Amino acid sequence: MADKFRALLVTKDGNRQSVAVTELTDADLMEGDVTVAVEHSTVNYKDGLAITGKGPIIRKFPLIPGIDLAGRVLRSEDSRFQVGDRVVLNGYGLGEAHHGGYAERAQVRGDWLIRLPENISTANAMAIGTAGYTAMLAVMALERHGIKPDGGAILVTGAAGGVGSVAVALLAKHGYQVIASTGRPQEADYLKTLGAAEVIDRAQLTVPPKPLAKERWAGGIDSVGSTTLANALSMTKYGGAIAACGLAAGMDLPSSVAPFILRGVSLLGIDSVQCPQNRRQEAWRRLDFDLDRGKLEAITTQIGLAEVIGTAESILDGKVRGRIVVKVQ
Ligand code: NDP
Repeated sequence: MADKFRALLVTKDGNRQSVAVTELTDADLMEGDVTVAVEHSTVNYKDGLAITGKGPIIRKFPLIPGIDLAGRVLRSEDSRFQVGDRVVLNGYGLGEAHHGGYAERAQVRGDWLIRLPENISTANAMAIGTAGYTAMLAVMALERHGIKPDGGAILVTGAAGGVGSVAVALLAKHGYQVIASTGRPQEADYLKTLGAAEVIDRAQLTVPPKPLAKERWAGGIDSVGSTTLANALSMTKYGGAIAACGLAAGMDLPSSVAPFILRGVSLLGIDSVQCPQNRRQEAWRRLDFDLDRGKLEAITTQIGLAEVIGTAESILDGKVRGRIVVKVQ
């Protein structure tokens, strides 16, 4: 196996963070019992924060960012994985404390890996990525709460983004009536193609939240947080639930207890990073069957390793539509 490989590396000098494509060797890799030839990665919102340094994501420098990777096993000391196996890795500190997906090679723990279902290519896996797998976790959480397609509409906020786009496609496939909230009216046709029944202006959810407002949806998947989440909760029908996944508008939640104690509404927390393996495996198994490949293609744009740096800025500016796949090799 050739010793040298290309990688995107984030370094820090005092308070100044820089990022560049460079050449590394196997000696630069971190500890792990499985070495993976990374074929594809992706750009999530969190990667944008890490690469630009606008959020405290990276905990060790220098570091290869990238919270997701998919590729083939090159070497394994873990009996569960053989050379040539196709694997995917989301989270577990990848691209935060452990070298991540923006490199042709990764050395990771076998405990973190999931063998890819046969019908999901490594490019498909990264079109899904943490964003898509999180959307699946959120759908599963709503299902566990007992929310059924005939119970009323489901709100998806940040709908034209990564989590949002996959959430719209998954919910529509299951027969839910999806209300997609976006700040980009020009993406209305895109969202309807993914299966949204109605597209609303996200400004409707940034008004000062009332403790309770008119009931509009049975549930929701929110990747925006802050006032948007507070409004989503106040407009949820009796007994409904909102799955909270993100903070694109902020970490705060200017809400009251009214939706919880007067309407029995639930707030379901979604974490993809430390999510237990059995639930991850279930999510990937479901993605294999529940996510229409045509729609996945429609939401995906492919870029090369060097373009990741510019895309990191765009995703934080809310300018990225759907999902980005990074062709690493
Ligand atoms: P994207 O940038 O692709 O999508 C976020 C979307 O949110 C944007 O496209 C935009 O949608 C909307 N948005 C952005 N800024 C604002 C704003 N100021 N006010 C209202 N809406 C806004 O990011 P991802 O889909 O990758 O991630 C979404 C969020 O979920 C992030 O906060 C991310 O950190 C979080 N996340 C959490 C995970 C977990 O484990 N809990 C896993 C993955 C992601 P539009 O233009 O349609 O309005």
